[in-house]
Amino acid sequence: ATILETRGIEYAYADGTRALSNVSLTIGEGRKIALVGPNGAGKSTLMLMFNGILRPDAGEVLFRNERLDYDSRSLRKVRQRVGMVFQNSDDQLFAPTVYQDVAFGPVNLRFPPEKVKRYVGYALQYVGLSGYERRPPHHLSGGEKKRAAIAGILAMEPEVMILDEPTSNLDPATSEEIMEMLDELNLGGKTLIISTHDVDLAYRWADEVVLMKDGGLLRRGSAEEVFGDL
Ligand code: ADP
Ligand code: ADP
Repeated sequence: ATILETRGIEYAYADGTRALSNVSLTIGEGRKIALVGPNGAGKSTLMLMFNGILRPDAGEVLFRNERLDYDSRSLRKVRQRVGMVFQNSDDQLFAPTVYQDVAFGPVNLRFPPEKVKRYVGYALQYVGLSGYERRPPHHLSGGEKKRAAIAGILAMEPEVMILDEPTSNLDPATSEEIMEMLDELNLGGKTLIISTHDVDLAYRWADEVVLMKDGGLLRRGSAEEVFGDL
């Protein structure tokens, strides 16, 4: 089944930069998808469309065949179901403690306090940060920050997790740990979408590759199909 879809999306930033042109893409439930393409191709902008952070100038975004209409109910729902991990963890981690950071999403969604505690505890355990609750996030290592950011969306029980360049600025061993964690989450049923510059990573990890260029979709398929003759 299709879990996320864009139809004919157009988007320009306030300064007039055209970032997406006629982007129509379906994301199958339970897939591991890598968006690949040069800097400026529109990968981050497309990711921000998927959970309603940005609103297209034209075209539409659908979650489970339901069109986002950008009212507060629709946005709350999509932001809970579709979790977004930014490229730079420092953009995501801003609370005084790891616990408060991870609790931010579920608190914001007005989950009842016992549920917040339970989900935050579970999420921190899942990413291997139990015991880090009272630490300030800015003192964590790069890999720990990425784990904390992942815990922050896990604590909202998303169906889709979107990660912008999840391995940028991480050493190879830490990158591998993060990607293995994403595999595990996928085996648990979550649909995963990442962006990456790393063609090897796309080969190793993704079920499907979407190649973007100049704000449009160039190709989609297995890594072999997409990169085979490039
Ligand atoms: P990618 O993630 O593939 O590097 P982006 O989605 O970040 O691509 O960028 C697509 C285009 O939009 C690029 O031309 C980029 O310079 C531009 N862009 C991105 N963010 C902004 C912004 N906040 N304001 C203006 N232009 C932007
Ligand atoms: P205390 O008064 O016992 O020191 P607070 O509730 O004021 O505890 O919280 C102190 C710190 O512990 C805060 O950073 C808070 O985010 C964090 N915290 C709150 N609840 C929990 C919890 N269940 N597990 C871990 N840390 C928590």
